[in-house]
Amino acid sequence: VAICEQVEDPKTAKGVVKREVVQIVTPGTVMLESMLKEGENNYLCSLSQFKDGSFAVVYNDLSTGENRVALIEDGWDAVIHELYNQPIREIVISSSLEEKLQHELKEKLQITISYQDEASFNAEYRNLTEDLNDERLVKAFSRLLNYIQNTQKRSLDHLKKATVIELKNYLALDMYSKRNLELTETIIKKGKHGSLLWVLDHTVTAMGSRMLKKWLERPLLNREMIEKRLNVVEGLYKGFMERELLREALKNVYDMERLAARIAYGNVNARDLIQLKQSLKHIPEIKEILQQFPQTEIQTLASELIYPEFIVELLERSIIDDPPASITEGGIIKDGYHEKLDEYRDASRNGKKWIAELEQKEKELTNIKSLKIGFNRVFGYYIEVTKANLHLLPEGRYERKQTLTNAERFITPELKEKESLILEAEEKSIELEHHLFLEIREELKKEIPLLQQLAEHISKIDVLQSFATVSELNGYTRPQFGEKKLKIKSGRHPVVEKVMTDGSFVPNDVFLDDQNSILLITGPNMSGKSTYMRQLAMTVIMAQIGCFVPCDEAELLIFDQIFTRIGAADDLVSGQSTFMVEMLEANHAISKATDRSLILLDEIGRGTSTYDGMALAQAIGAKTLFSTHYHELTAMEESLPHLKNIHVRAEEYEGNVVFLHQIKEGSADKSYGIQVAKLAGLPEALIERA
Ligand code: ADP
Repeated sequence: VAICEQVEDPKTAKGVVKREVVQIVTPGTVMLESMLKEGENNYLCSLSQFKDGSFAVVYNDLSTGENRVALIEDGWDAVIHELYNQPIREIVISSSLEEKLQHELKEKLQITISYQDEASFNAEYRNLTEDLNDERLVKAFSRLLNYIQNTQKRSLDHLKKATVIELKNYLALDMYSKRNLELTETIIKKGKHGSLLWVLDHTVTAMGSRMLKKWLERPLLNREMIEKRLNVVEGLYKGFMERELLREALKNVYDMERLAARIAYGNVNARDLIQLKQSLKHIPEIKEILQQFPQTEIQTLASELIYPEFIVELLERSIIDDPPASITEGGIIKDGYHEKLDEYRDASRNGKKWIAELEQKEKELTNIKSLKIGFNRVFGYYIEVTKANLHLLPEGRYERKQTLTNAERFITPELKEKESLILEAEEKSIELEHHLFLEIREELKKEIPLLQQLAEHISKIDVLQSFATVSELNGYTRPQFGEKKLKIKSGRHPVVEKVMTDGSFVPNDVFLDDQNSILLITGPNMSGKSTYMRQLAMTVIMAQIGCFVPCDEAELLIFDQIFTRIGAADDLVSGQSTFMVEMLEANHAISKATDRSLILLDEIGRGTSTYDGMALAQAIGAKTLFSTHYHELTAMEESLPHLKNIHVRAEEYEGNVVFLHQIKEGSADKSYGIQVAKLAGLPEALIERA
C-alpha cells in the first residue's frame, strides 16, 4: 500500500499542492500494532547469493528493531532449511536470483517476494554493520537496508546493530525436523495448540513469548551456556514463592521492545508512553525479587537490569495518566510541566470562567431564567434567548446574530473579545502540547539502546521463569550431560502426555551408546513407535534450550544436528514423497550426519537401500532410531553389531490387539496388521477372510 500525502503547506503552496508517496507499507514492514501478532516476530528477510556459491540471509523486524545475519556456505538446501518455519512475511532478493530458486522460495516458504537490486553500502548506517566480519554479510545487509529506506522513507533510529548468527553454534534442525517435531506449530492445523511451544510457553510478556520461540528454533551446543540457563531454571524452580512474585511483576511489563521501536519510528502516542512508564516502574521490583535468589546466574540477571529512573521521572512529570490516543488535539501534558502552557491554559480557563459569570449576571439582570451562553464552531460564543422571553429583553442590549425557530442568538463586543482570547489560547496550547510531546519523544529517542537492552533482559528472565514454571507443573527433571551414553529413565512425550489428560501415558526408557547406536523399533501400527522417537528428539531439544526434561532421570549427549524422515504414508503435507525421494532424503541426512547427530527414520524404506543406510549410520556413529512395522527388517541385528532391536509391546486378547505402549528389548513377534485393520474399522467379512 502506497501512502500519499500533501508535502507542502496548502496555505503557502502556489497552484496545485504537491503530493508524494511518503511510505510504502509491505507485509514485512507493517508497524501498525493491530496488524502485528503480539507474541510473534514479523520478519522482513533478505537473501543474497554470491559467486562462490554461498548465501547470506538477513532477518529484520522493523517492529522491534532486531537485525540478524547468517552466512550459509553449504548450498541452497541449507538456505531453505534455515528459512523454513521462521515468522517471515516477506523476502527481499535480487531480480537476478535464479528463476528456479525464486520459485522454490515461493512454493516452500509461501511468502511475499520483493526485489531490491541496489545493494550499495549506506554510510549513514555504518554503525549497524560494525560487528559484521564479512563483506558478504555487509552486502546482504545493505540490500535489506536499501529496501527499508526506499519503502519507509524516514530515519530508522531504532534499528539495532546487526548481529551474526553463527549457525555452527546451534543445533541444526532441518526443515523436516522443524515440521515433523511440531516445535512451534502443528503439521495439520498450523497452529500453536498441540506444539511443543504450546506446552512450554508460560511466559507472561509478549517479548518473552517471542524470545522463547527463537530459543526453541536454535537450541544451544555449548554445554557451559546450557548449564548456565539450567542453573537459573533450577533456582527459579526451587524458589516457588519468589517465582510467583516475579511472574506477577513481569505481567505489568508491556511490550517495551515494540514501544521503543515506535518511539524511534515516530508513531508513538501518549498512551504508549504511559505504558512505558508503568512498565519501567516495575523494574526495581523485578530486580529486588531476583536478588533474593542465591544462584550467581540469577544475581547476574538482576545486576543487568538498570532502572532508568530519569525516564520515569520525566514521564511522571509531563504526561497525564489517561491521555487521549491523538497527539494533536491536546489534553496530554500535565499542568505545571511548562510555564507557557500553563499561561495559555489559565487564559482559557479564566475566559471560560468570565463567560460563566456573564451568563449568571445577564440572567439576573434580564430576569430571563432560560438565558444561556452557548458555543459552536461557526458563530463562536453566543447568548441565546427563547422567543417566548424576547419581550423581556431591553431593546439594543445585545447584537442580533442568528434566528432559530424558537430562539434568537446574540453577541456582545466583550463576549467576542473574550472569545478570541480563549480560542487563541486554546489553539496555542494545543500546538504547544504537540510540540512538547514531540520534544519528549526526541528525548526518549536518545535512550532507545537502553530501552532495547532492558527489553532483552526482561524477555530472557521471562523465558527462564517460563521454563521453571512448566518444569514444576509437569514434573520435569534437570538433565545431566555426558560424553559417552544417553540414558533416559521413564521418559515421556511432553505434548502427548499433556493431551492425554487422564494421566495414562506410559513412560519408557531410552539407552544409546557407541555399542548401541542404532535402535530398530518394531511394533504394530499405532502402538507408539513414532511417539517414542519424537519424545527423544523433543527431550534433546528441551535440554539444549536450557529447560528441564520430561522423565525421571536423564543423562544426555549434546547433539549437533537432528534429522527426521517420515515415510510417504505419513507425509501428509507434501503428499508427493515417493519411495525414491524418501531414500534420497534419508541419504541426505546420513551424508550430513556426524557421530554427534540424531537421526530419526519413521517407516521409511524397505529393501537393500535400508540396509545400506543403516550400515552407513553405524559407520558414522550417528545415534539412529528407525521404526518399522515391517518386522522382517529385524534380521539386520545379525549383521550390524551396533544395531539393537527393541519393540513396542502389544498383546492379543480375544482376537483384538491391545497396545501396551511399553518398549521392550528384542523384536516384535508379529505385526498385527490384520488386528490393526480391524481396529481401523475395515469390514468384518474382509478381516475374516484375510
Ligand atoms: P506408531 O508410530 O507405532 O504407528 P504412534 O507413535 O503414532 O504409533 O502412536 C499412536 C498413538 O498411541 C498416539 O497418538 C498416542 O495416543 C498413543 N501412544 C503412543 N505412545 C504412548 C505411550 N507411551 N503411552 C500412552 N499412549 C501412547
